[in-house]
Amino acid sequence: MPELPEVETVKNVLIPIVKGRKILDIEIKRRTTIQGDPVVFIDSLKGETFNDISRIGKFLIFHLTNEKVLISHLRMEGKYYEFDEDEPDSKYARVVFHFDNNKKLCYDDSRCFGIMILSSEKEYRQEKEISKLGPEPFAINDVSFLLKASKGKKLPIKSNLLDQSLMTGLGNIYVDEVLYASKIHPLTPSYAVTKKEWELIVKNAKTILTTAIELGGSTIKSYHPGKDIDGNFQTRIKIYGKSGEECPECHSTYRFIKVGGRGTTFCPKCQQKHGIPLNVAITGKIASGKSTILEAFKNKGFDVLSCDEVVKNLYLNKDVSEHIEKLLGISFNDAKVDKDILRKHLIENPKDKKKLEKYVHGLVREEVEKFLLTSNSKIRVVEVPLLFESKFDMMFDTIIVTDIKEEKQLSLLKNRDGFKSDDLRVINSNNQIDQNKNKATYLISNNSSKEEFNKKCEDVISKLISHLD
Ligand SMILES: [Zn+2]
Repeated sequence: MPELPEVETVKNVLIPIVKGRKILDIEIKRRTTIQGDPVVFIDSLKGETFNDISRIGKFLIFHLTNEKVLISHLRMEGKYYEFDEDEPDSKYARVVFHFDNNKKLCYDDSRCFGIMILSSEKEYRQEKEISKLGPEPFAINDVSFLLKASKGKKLPIKSNLLDQSLMTGLGNIYVDEVLYASKIHPLTPSYAVTKKEWELIVKNAKTILTTAIELGGSTIKSYHPGKDIDGNFQTRIKIYGKSGEECPECHSTYRFIKVGGRGTTFCPKCQQKHGIPLNVAITGKIASGKSTILEAFKNKGFDVLSCDEVVKNLYLNKDVSEHIEKLLGISFNDAKVDKDILRKHLIENPKDKKKLEKYVHGLVREEVEKFLLTSNSKIRVVEVPLLFESKFDMMFDTIIVTDIKEEKQLSLLKNRDGFKSDDLRVINSNNQIDQNKNKATYLISNNSSKEEFNKKCEDVISKLISHLD
């Protein structure tokens, strides 16, 4: 979808094409592109001449003679193409303007989300879609009104900026860019954004949008302004669409989450979540200290949940055990899952492991979602051994990874019944902690003494508590 810089580029490309051109005729090839009566639309604009084009947010405002105004929003795929009269229309032409210089302008829209509204110089600013837009960052010098409007608002800052009514001009791409540049977590509740941070947001929005406009828009996906102009802002994009890549500032791996349904990329270290609540996941290899830190959170009075415990309880449930019996074609002797029978079956039928995981992960996900939704705790902490494999990482704004070397793991595990070093190698090769530990907000190493590990855990908890204001 074109964003503000792309629309500005379209405007700049279109001005020399349409300025001073008289409209001899208009063809409406798709009725729904026009809001209002198409006959009135044609009658009003036929014979008029384009004076200029301006832009409000992502709306193009065509100013014509006799105080007439045409508002155009490109939405997903709208584009303008200029052709000679003897050339064919573009493939998805919806409205065609025929000019007095033997040229025509096609409004092309493969997905038909774009709209055109006929208005007048007196009224266009009051049109429903335009009147609700907030000011553009370029017009903001004092951020007090942003602070005031966000007071008590829990809406994540990313959703608030996308809404356009507070401030207009940042779409999905540039919101991610601006929040990264401002070091603000996209899920930060709006009320927790400080005056200083609002100043950063506005300042970075100005800089990033200006650079993008100078480079002619970002031309991501299918967007092309005019015939020959291609923007090259794409090379300047630092974070949007780059989840899994490394942050040049801190060398963390960018994470991907959904915020209000929109795909969002952020740096787990540079952009730490502030405000209530914090949804924290703890993950790490077996015996790396996950339970120790979960316990420490619990002792401080925060709500905690262990996914291992959730699974243990699920396995005691009659419906669950019956479902697993049917799923894997086995039978337990009791109305609960017999772990020995299950383990034996999975060793003999390794392919069934995926089937079982898919079913169990679904049930655990429901429990975790319910926990995060109903807990009143300021920090909610969930221990998830397979955080990345199960894609549960999407549910958390903050991730703690406990890190441990294999020899330390073995020394801790050797007291457990019948544990063999070969078992550990299999277990470790099955999890994806090593590939993902750079996605951690906090990486706590558990390779020295117990006291030192406890101290590191306390430090991290204190830091998170300081993020609650
Ligand atoms: Zn970073």
